Amino acid sequence: MLLKAATCLSEVVPATPPAPADPRPCLIGGRIAGSTCTACGHNAARRHPRCERCLGNTIATNFGPTGVVWSSATVHLRIGELTPPFVLAYIDVDAGPRVLAQVVGGNEVPAGGLVRFTGEENGNLTVKAVGQ
Ligand SMILES: [Zn+2]
Repeated sequence: MLLKAATCLSEVVPATPPAPADPRPCLIGGRIAGSTCTACGHNAARRHPRCERCLGNTIATNFGPTGVVWSSATVHLRIGELTPPFVLAYIDVDAGPRVLAQVVGGNEVPAGGLVRFTGEENGNLTVKAVGQ
């Protein structure tokens, strides 16, 4: 009696995995769409149904529209669609989380400088120094 060879698992074409969720924060009306934990008060720069620290319940919170620069730097490497040189900065959002954003205008903003969110480019937050 002849047995038919079993199908090799490596011949199975895997299903295309789903694209991962984009972890970057987004703006709604010039403010960051985030969440605040009702148990521990942690602020997140994204909408989460559960707190990323304590798994408590959260409420939707919008942060901004301004923030204070924690640090900034000029980048001289091509990253994705960003053509060098460009400036990135960590922003402590008013009463909210710290986020990474691209500074429009091409100049670094010193730590402590005030910036305002201006929009998004290629999914990245953009800010402009207040007073420029
Ligand atoms: Zn929490």
